[in-house]
Amino acid sequence: MASEKSQEATSSSMPATGQLPHSFKNELRAQFFARDKREKPALDNLVPTSSNTNISSTIRLAPPEAFPAYVASSKRIICLTGAGLSASSGIQTFRDKNGKDRFWRDYQVSVLATAAFFKEDPVLSWLYHADRRREALNAEPNAGHEALKQLVERKGEGILVVNQNIDGLLERSGVREERIVRVHGSLFDMRCVDEGCGFVDRQNFAESIVEGLKNESGGNIGDVDTRLPDIAVADLPHCPKCNSLLRPGIVWFGEDLSASSLQKTNDFLEGELGNSAGNAEDTQSKRESASAGKDEKIDLMIIVGTSAMVWPAADFIHKARKNGAKIAVFDQVRPVGSDVLRDGDWFFQGDAAVTLPEMLTETVGEE
Ligand SMILES: [Zn+2]
Repeated sequence: MASEKSQEATSSSMPATGQLPHSFKNELRAQFFARDKREKPALDNLVPTSSNTNISSTIRLAPPEAFPAYVASSKRIICLTGAGLSASSGIQTFRDKNGKDRFWRDYQVSVLATAAFFKEDPVLSWLYHADRRREALNAEPNAGHEALKQLVERKGEGILVVNQNIDGLLERSGVREERIVRVHGSLFDMRCVDEGCGFVDRQNFAESIVEGLKNESGGNIGDVDTRLPDIAVADLPHCPKCNSLLRPGIVWFGEDLSASSLQKTNDFLEGELGNSAGNAEDTQSKRESASAGKDEKIDLMIIVGTSAMVWPAADFIHKARKNGAKIAVFDQVRPVGSDVLRDGDWFFQGDAAVTLPEMLTETVGEE
């Protein structure tokens, strides 16, 4: 024990047998930093903004003017939407601008939105989620949602919208239900806590699910000084099938994403005609598409208001790219990942409620 300690104390100057010499480690680190430095300035120039579209850089983006025609000619489009789409509708994200957790009363949101918290205090968990539902219901879909809705109308089965937002705004804008995949669930879905039961109430936009969750005072119950409604566990929403508690149908922190929505997305990315009802006509068209082979490539991936750096977004991008997709990013900030944008892609900087209608509306109605 004593000898181990003395070895540890001297290890900074005397490497133990089998370890890399200290000087070699430093050299590796120096090489890494040198490479990092070389790449950083290049990253700053990767993406032209609207004010400097002609800078030469390692990535040559396509001209914005070419986008509407490309959309018009695209047969298969996957669209990935995130918080930036709903920002101008006034929907808050879980974190503030500095990446810090928001609070609701005395609770961190990342604690409230967990299965552990629901188990501990279902009443407070439901009051929090009912408050989020009210916030979302008081918001209106914006022009960005509307532009996507029109694109879905136009492309029919040739588009799939992978929605990471739980606020129901895309759904309320009128995007056809079968063209949306909700990877993070929805505030407007409820499901039985008993997974064996399997009851789900989908897209229930009722102002108040149960009497007790109404905010009678009208005050901001997210504020710790506002009195909370007096409600017991028995007053919470219960399963009509088995009478267990119902829980909000969102994917809480630490939970797995919905397997069926990942499957549907992957099927679309890999060329399956998802969601066919199995009737003769669908089977026929599926067979025709399958024999057409190459026609099943993805032409375009539209990424709206999400950093797309984390799984599964990064995985979707990779698969779309592999199947031939060009990428168009609509966001306030340009993607920092080295693999999101490549030659011939597009980046439209700004509020998606402005940029999406600008770039998509032109193609709506054309054939
Ligand atoms: Zn049940």
